[in-house]
Amino acid sequence: MENERNWAGNYRYGATEILVPDSMEQVQEMVARRNRVKVLGSRHSFNGIADTAASHLSLQNLNRVIALDRTSHKVTVEAGIRYGELCKYLDSHGYALHNLASLPHITVAGACATATHGSGDRNGSLATAVHALELVKADGEAVVFSRDQQGGDAAGAVVGLGALGVVTKLTLDVIPAFEMSQRVYENLPLAQLEHHFDDLFSSAYSVSLFTDWKEPSFNQVWIKRRATQASAQAEPALFGATPAAGNRHPVPGFNTDNCSEQMGVPGPWYERMPHFRMDFTPSAGEELQSEYFVPRQYAYQALCAIDRLRERIAPLLYVSEVRTIAADDLWMSPCYKRDSVAVHFTWKADGEAVRQVLPMIEELLAPFHARPHWSKLFAMTPARLQSLYEKLPDFRQLTKRLDPDGKFRNEYLDTYIMEN
Ligand SMILES: Cc1cc2nc3c(=O)[nH]c(=O)nc-3n(C[C@H](O)[C@H](O)[C@H](O)COP(=O)(O)OP(=O)(O)OC[C@H]3O[C@@H](n4cnc5c(N)ncnc54)[C@H](O)[C@@H]3O)c2cc1C
Repeated sequence: MENERNWAGNYRYGATEILVPDSMEQVQEMVARRNRVKVLGSRHSFNGIADTAASHLSLQNLNRVIALDRTSHKVTVEAGIRYGELCKYLDSHGYALHNLASLPHITVAGACATATHGSGDRNGSLATAVHALELVKADGEAVVFSRDQQGGDAAGAVVGLGALGVVTKLTLDVIPAFEMSQRVYENLPLAQLEHHFDDLFSSAYSVSLFTDWKEPSFNQVWIKRRATQASAQAEPALFGATPAAGNRHPVPGFNTDNCSEQMGVPGPWYERMPHFRMDFTPSAGEELQSEYFVPRQYAYQALCAIDRLRERIAPLLYVSEVRTIAADDLWMSPCYKRDSVAVHFTWKADGEAVRQVLPMIEELLAPFHARPHWSKLFAMTPARLQSLYEKLPDFRQLTKRLDPDGKFRNEYLDTYIMEN
């Protein structure tokens, strides 16, 4: 079989077969009968986290909404559902998710497994909405982890990095549906953030900064407000940035048709929180990505550190984005016990040049204990990475309990998680 590549095309998986179960029973049987299995979501990771040299399992046919509980405000879904599909369902039933990533194309299970996030001072990663999950273990048996179980391992299982088993169902907390509008402002000097980082990021439900690092400034500030907080007119200036005259794409020169509606036009939450529309290509397309999370109190210092490397970074870059994420208690989350600022890089598809610049960025961010995004490109040694996660020993124990023979392990997990 021709081996599948990831969405960006930079990684070719080594799987020898792709299994596509149509039922829970088939998942259990397929898992029980194979020696090595790895679930493949929508393939939006940039590294080998979803790779295997044996069997890939796709839950693309297990993508239904199972139940909406209006009493406890929870929705239960099959794990192969994508946010785009789930959001439409929720909105039509009067509900919303608290936050979304920049794109709606990814699966709920794949996103939560890697602590995928959006932006917002009070918004935890998408994984923080998980109330319970059902997982098929290596022996084919199903177990449920729930946040209701006091002292249980749910906080360890949610950001599971694909290591614990096949997540087959997720129950997510939902909130009442709401309208949002977004506005883009242009040219925010980096220096403004020394005293106004908190003012800016707390000024809306979700805030993102974009820069190409050609200057010590941000080309665009994306402000996403709930309709009840939004005013009909844009502020004339926002810490030195001025309102954009029309719709913008985060990557200069790219087609704005791919982006969600701007210019303060109100619309449903799920058509404003992601930067990109479901039926269009998100981001740049042929690209690589990296992202680092630093504790929020170091935001300005960390951005100034990266600014020192501006001349090396700018030629390799499509765009860089800065977002905030609320702290959580999920063991393997990069935001574990840290209100965080994430600095993201969308690189041009020059793998070698990116490989050379990543260690330089990581060295500059090391004093701030930067944790890399699990599913993007990083250069850090396993020892360094492991030292950043205090709950790693507990996660290893949980992995060994659910998967004693390493059925769900792959090179990525062996390297960065399971071996010292
Ligand atoms: C254009 C683009 C934009 C992005 N924007 C953002 C963003 O805004 N914020 C952000 O944080 N990240 C972002 N990402 C990264 C992306 O969200 C993560 O890579 C996410 O994990 C992708 O989900 P997926 O369904 O493609 O999973 P995959 O990449 O297919 O798999 C990721 C991991 O999840 C595991 N997994 C998947 N399903 C299951 C399951 N059912 N049971 C057990 N394990 C499972 C896989 O085995 C693997 O370990 C972006 C990526 C791209 C390409």
